[in-house]
Amino acid sequence: MSIWNKKEVKTKKEILKKNIEVDVLIVGAGITGMTTAYYLKNLKNICVVDSGKIGHGITLNSTAKINYFQETIYNKIISSNNKNTAIKYLKSQLYAIKNIKKIIKDEKIECDFIKVPSYVFANKKSEVLNLKKEIDFLKEQGIKVFEKELPSNIESFKSYCVNDTYIFNPIKYLQGIYNSVIDNMHIYENTKILKIEKLLTYYKCYTAKNVIKAKKVILACHYPYFIKPLFLPFKSYIEKSYIIVSKVDKDLNYTCISSNCPTYSCRFYKDDNFIYQISLAMSHNTAFKQDDKYNFECVKKIFNLNEKDIVMRYSNVDIMTIDNMPYIGKLKGNIYIACGFNTWGMTNGILSAKIISDMILNKKNKYSDIFDPNRFKLSNLKKIPYIFFSQIKSFIGPKINKNKKWYSDDIYFYYKNGKSLAVYKDKKGSEHTVYNKCPHLGCSLIFNEKEKTWDCPCHSSRFNIDGKCIKGPSNYDISFSKHSNK
Ligand SMILES: Cc1cc2nc3c(=O)[nH]c(=O)nc-3n(C[C@H](O)[C@H](O)[C@H](O)COP(=O)(O)OP(=O)(O)OC[C@H]3O[C@@H](n4cnc5c(N)ncnc54)[C@H](O)[C@@H]3O)c2cc1C
Repeated sequence: MSIWNKKEVKTKKEILKKNIEVDVLIVGAGITGMTTAYYLKNLKNICVVDSGKIGHGITLNSTAKINYFQETIYNKIISSNNKNTAIKYLKSQLYAIKNIKKIIKDEKIECDFIKVPSYVFANKKSEVLNLKKEIDFLKEQGIKVFEKELPSNIESFKSYCVNDTYIFNPIKYLQGIYNSVIDNMHIYENTKILKIEKLLTYYKCYTAKNVIKAKKVILACHYPYFIKPLFLPFKSYIEKSYIIVSKVDKDLNYTCISSNCPTYSCRFYKDDNFIYQISLAMSHNTAFKQDDKYNFECVKKIFNLNEKDIVMRYSNVDIMTIDNMPYIGKLKGNIYIACGFNTWGMTNGILSAKIISDMILNKKNKYSDIFDPNRFKLSNLKKIPYIFFSQIKSFIGPKINKNKKWYSDDIYFYYKNGKSLAVYKDKKGSEHTVYNKCPHLGCSLIFNEKEKTWDCPCHSSRFNIDGKCIKGPSNYDISFSKHSNK
């Protein structure tokens, strides 16, 4: 459930039912995969597969701001890399915005794409200096940024604003992209790639029943399901945020985000009938603070929301990288990857699509070098202990601490024949039992009471109440038995 899937992407609902051979296979039909398909649509033999529906991954629950004023990212990049990289990152975000504007204009996509002012504000006194440093950097790069009071009731100690940022509806955007590419390629939904095998001149990509032979493979699947060669679990952690959509009387037409943790952010959206405020808060590393009930309550309090106005509550996760930069480009052989967007995947998804398609079309792209997925920097080693601690905590934490406070009485855990099992009892009293172990790397799971899913705190796999995997990196289910009435 999300504010964006009130209208689904209308597709031919094709599912792969035979073995095929393609030049380029794109795995994942979110903003990254679909925009890559758009840039490659003139190639003769290309296809896209998605394990679910188009746009139903992380893109669906995004707040969908298209923004280069990203908290205090530039100073973070200066610390983890250097100033030149931060300058290039800024230029890459502006370039991504220029590209999405061009796509929307060329394809006449009606996706509620509008220009709005965006604010970054310090929600703690101690953050003010940090924010000022970011503003100095932006001004030095010629960005028109000015101090302005936040038009909101959230507590702010200092706020700055830029005027040239955008918001849109990502599902309507994906519909436009789908319409523009579908005559040139097949897009298979509900088709999951389970394994990729390298042969001499091509890759064998296995679904449950078929094989796709592809010369080149682009992984636009949010979190890649292999460990080697990217070693992503050792270079990243998962950040989860809570979103509440509420009805409001007035479209205040701005976006805002706090300069650092804890992240508070909001934007507005107007459909044919109502105006909504989309409020986000309580962003945290999934290794910590796993209490969903508490977190949604906090969002409500921070934004002063009335229960009667609330229409939706949901969460979302993204991959946060060790050096605050995404991994985009050629991984090895003819495998390309785009992930680790640090919660800025609308711009970085478009950027990835452009960089990777340019690589495939043998065009030069001046931004590709800073995002090289094979990069390694000694200076980033200092963050390894934090990542390592997060991984250990999310691996061991839920195994030993099944904190009763996080759950209602409908959730319980037990062991049978040495296997750890987890049970959710639904409103009708039916019990849904699953194996309490993520098939990806063996982490124990946490029940997400709002969305009724079992979530992996380590690498963000999700399973429905009967154990079907609905989000990777796990490619396998955790089903134990069908429900039984008690
Ligand atoms: C709370 C929150 C708010 C955010 N708000 C913003 C924002 O305002 N602006 C912004 O720029 N960014 C935002 N982001 C980040 C942004 O939403 C994501 O980075 C972006 O949507 C990722 O897009 P994607 O296409 O790479 O991944 P996805 O949208 O997840 O697409 C990947 C697709 O791959 C498919 N897939 C996965 N595994 C397989 C497989 N094995 N076989 C076949 N298919 C597979 C999935 O089904 C999915 O459809 C936000 C993130 C969070 C957490």
